Amino acid sequence: MIKLVTKNKNKWVVTSAWPYVNAIPHLGNLIGSTLSADVFARFLRMKGDEVVFVSGSDSHGTPISIEAKKLNVPAEELAFKYHNIIKDLHEKWQISFDNYTITHNPIHIEFVKKMYLDIQKNGYILEKEIESLYCKQDDLFLPDRFVEGICPHCNFEDARGDQCDNCQRLLTPLDLIKPKCAVCGHTPTIKKTKHWYLDLPKLQDRLKNLIEENEIIPANARQMCLNSIAEGLPERAITRDLEWGIPAPFENAEDKTIYVWFEAVLGYITAVKEWAEKLINDPDKFNYFWNDPTTKTVFFIGKDNIIFHLIVFPALLLAYNDNKKESEKLVLPYNVSSTEWLMYENQKFSKSRGIGIWIDEALELAPLDYWRFSLVYNRMEKSDASFLWSEFDNNNKILNDVIGNFIHRSMTFINKQFNNKIPEKIEPDEVDKAFILKITSISKKVGDLLEKFELRKALREIVNFGRDGNVYLNEKAPWHLIKKNKKAAGYVFNLCAQASYALAVLLSPFIPGTSEKILSYLNTSKLSELIWDSISENSLKAGHFIKKPEPLFQKLDIEEIKQKYEQLKEGKPNEGEKEIISYDEFKKLDIRVALVEKVEKVPKADKLYNLSIDLGTEKRTLVAGLAEHYKIEDLQGKKIVVLTNLEPRKLKGILSKGMLLAAVENDKVSILILDRDLPPGARIE
Ligand SMILES: [Zn+2]
Ligand SMILES: [Zn+2]
Repeated sequence: MIKLVTKNKNKWVVTSAWPYVNAIPHLGNLIGSTLSADVFARFLRMKGDEVVFVSGSDSHGTPISIEAKKLNVPAEELAFKYHNIIKDLHEKWQISFDNYTITHNPIHIEFVKKMYLDIQKNGYILEKEIESLYCKQDDLFLPDRFVEGICPHCNFEDARGDQCDNCQRLLTPLDLIKPKCAVCGHTPTIKKTKHWYLDLPKLQDRLKNLIEENEIIPANARQMCLNSIAEGLPERAITRDLEWGIPAPFENAEDKTIYVWFEAVLGYITAVKEWAEKLINDPDKFNYFWNDPTTKTVFFIGKDNIIFHLIVFPALLLAYNDNKKESEKLVLPYNVSSTEWLMYENQKFSKSRGIGIWIDEALELAPLDYWRFSLVYNRMEKSDASFLWSEFDNNNKILNDVIGNFIHRSMTFINKQFNNKIPEKIEPDEVDKAFILKITSISKKVGDLLEKFELRKALREIVNFGRDGNVYLNEKAPWHLIKKNKKAAGYVFNLCAQASYALAVLLSPFIPGTSEKILSYLNTSKLSELIWDSISENSLKAGHFIKKPEPLFQKLDIEEIKQKYEQLKEGKPNEGEKEIISYDEFKKLDIRVALVEKVEKVPKADKLYNLSIDLGTEKRTLVAGLAEHYKIEDLQGKKIVVLTNLEPRKLKGILSKGMLLAAVENDKVSILILDRDLPPGARIE
């Protein structure tokens, strides 16, 4: 492997917001944090920078402990169960974490305790006695979500002790009208309790300077933070009367835990520590990254998290760093990359109302790279945006028509006309020269955008480069040129092969699976060895053998995917429980033997057959998705089993009356046939 000599090799800690452990992230969460961070981390690695990319499941706090109390299982067990599901999903999305951990781990817990003791020693912790809601039935203080009631601002009935979901205002439990315990429903009483507070007012001026001096952070984030500082930062309670969490290390705080918001954020530090100590067995790598003032830490988060990452987190770092040697100070945030909200077809994502797509569902609907591409292509960088099926369809066309088509046509031509060998170079003409300039300048152009965290623009620039490739091909028309001048035609394909390689490099942070395919067809470097600056007009030498390419993408049937999505949503509430039906209900199903008389393909539908069937007393038309599973001649003349009294449905303009019964497992299909011969119309009972 060629070792790249870089002048400015940077050190990066790339992080994405910690998903709360009791919910699977949805597409908006993913592009707002993890996926964007992954694209960025992959790009930096290819540039030759040193990168550690971490995140994890936020496992403490009230939602998980309420659920655990209701299910009567230990919170820890529940947290790890969900953590493993989320971790597995991130692997399926090819998120290239160096460490995806969980806050309930010994390294994190010990570090948090020690850090807060140091912060206390440095004089930034206050103690206060306050009144708090308390449930006698459960013998429990009721912080945050442990209490529900009516919002004092908008009268919303289901407001929680930390926030009203209707008007979005932040609340404290004592604000609620008619408060109720979320565990048992009883009305709580008021009891005095002591809590520990972070003295944010004392850090206010230093935080202000920090924000003002940082020229990298986006203007809107800076303004939001400065406004918040101008209003005056309040003292913030960092302890809770909760069992599930990190024990507060302060004297006389034995029954308190650290408020989840004030420890999950420290996971950015401890995840690197755990990676260094446990995963790569090189504990010094922790200090190498976190104790070096030149390390760039960057946080990919939703816009609601800006204050927490640019004020609260740096406040904790400043408070900790006081009285520390230079070599022990933790580096302050370099930048945040925040996104606006993603909606689903102009509606808010809502699990309970079944609106939106969750990251486990998405992978059941379409292959990974179509999602990765589409989410970054429409990333919510400047304003809120909606996931639209029409856009998803359009993005599929871009992949097919712009990227897939260019690479496939170029490589197929080289295979057929030049015996799988990259053709030779000749003297370029003006058109060639213009295209060469595009090839040699593209990685800088895209790289500059990525360095400015403009992921969406960067991907669009790559698509434009694909378009330039198609324009070049069409302008040169080598399929005509080859009849007069084979060498000149060959040179066109030489350059198209170089451009295909360029696309493999450029796309690899975004859709690594596709890049891998392109590289394998080009019979060149592995994905893990790709170097960002390796694109030139000579990336592939003349005479280099390439392989026979397969199409990179397929045309997705959006209507079919939408239907599958609807089914997924309808099926969700009953997942896991089987409904029992009575014999009378079963008897309503009119299932009969039918003879298949004729089978035809349905035009413009790759998967559908149009079946003419005989039911003994009548003939009917059925549309069935069997074309990928059975040949026409295998079905003709066969006796099959049909549900005849199903509501007729129009498919691709054909009215289908009834449903053919078949067994389905993953992508295998087997139609039901009779074990003994019976005439059409015989009833199944
Ligand atoms: Zn409200
Ligand atoms: Zn209670």
